[in-house]
Amino acid sequence: MRVVSGIQPTGKPHLGNYLGAIVNYVKLQDEAHAAGGECFIFLADLHALSQPHDPAELTKNTREMVATLVACGVDPSKTILFNQAQVPAHAELQWLLNGTARMGWLNRMTQWKDKAGKNREGQSVALFTYPVLQAADVLLYQATHVPVGEDQKQHLELARDIAQKFNNDFCSEDAPLFTLPEPYIPPAAARIMSLRDGTAKMSKSDPSDMSRISLTDDPDTVMKKVKKAKTDPEPLPSEEKGLEDRAEAKNLVGIYAALTGKSTADVLAEHGGQGFGAFKPALGEVLVETLRPINARFMELKDDQEALDAILARGAAQAREHGLPTLNAAYKALGLVRG
Ligand code: ATP
Ligand code: MG
Repeated sequence: MRVVSGIQPTGKPHLGNYLGAIVNYVKLQDEAHAAGGECFIFLADLHALSQPHDPAELTKNTREMVATLVACGVDPSKTILFNQAQVPAHAELQWLLNGTARMGWLNRMTQWKDKAGKNREGQSVALFTYPVLQAADVLLYQATHVPVGEDQKQHLELARDIAQKFNNDFCSEDAPLFTLPEPYIPPAAARIMSLRDGTAKMSKSDPSDMSRISLTDDPDTVMKKVKKAKTDPEPLPSEEKGLEDRAEAKNLVGIYAALTGKSTADVLAEHGGQGFGAFKPALGEVLVETLRPINARFMELKDDQEALDAILARGAAQAREHGLPTLNAAYKALGLVRG
């Protein structure tokens, strides 16, 4: 079992990242560890170059993201935690795979279409080719499980196509180089929506800070954001059916359920009939209690630059070692001569 997943160190991590991704990293890390496999979590700092960025911010966010992940339970003694920039094999393998990936495949990526919009000519080349870097990210470690959100499934299929074509073109049939990675959509993957708009996902890049709960928000801020969250005037229904067409109510109930480990039906059985004047403070309490230990640990870690850099350096050394055989085999398969 080889788990590989990445998270971009851009902006402040929020409740959606926590419930949708980080909680599952912690679970998978423990499963992989128990099964004698490996778990690789990397900060996708090279991916951050695909959009305009501020270098000083990127450095700061990279360290803060390490502190956040560790505060949330990612354990550097069980997980190989590193940033791409310290493992040149990611960029090298991307170049090798650029010979295999087709323009037509990348042109079909919906993320490219969405992010580039009408201004394709003005985008960075990196925005167009970053799915090939993503393929390199997972193929380098012969990943078996790649936890991804729904939005990333297409890119993982691309990684499989690239792996398959490379294996066909450059390897003998009985000795394919790359393992075809499987998307792993965790059973309890929560999709958390914006507090200002129940139809848009909670996101780091939403311009409104009131739209998201950041993992580093203090209790007063959390309470304030929950109380100001958009809702409708109706009380909560007692059954799930009553949440249809009530995106904001559904989101708040979903957050409560995810945080307490209860089903939506159980939450509604308990809180059905309550107005938001009563439910919001209850939700705020649960959030504050969930974030309290994460916050405390984050505050301890965040200014210890040396310790954070040491975690990344150690993870990078392990990642370089694990990736080397595959990288070398890829150079060899392509007929590239190296001393
Ligand atoms: P950006 O707006 O910059 O794309 P983001 O908030 O979407 O940022 P990412 O760094 O793109 O965050 O995603 C990191 C991980 O968090 C991914 O696995 C993604 O699927 C997950 N994730 C992001 N937003 C949510 C959300 N609202 N609910 C559940 N999971 C989410
Ligand atoms: Mg995103």
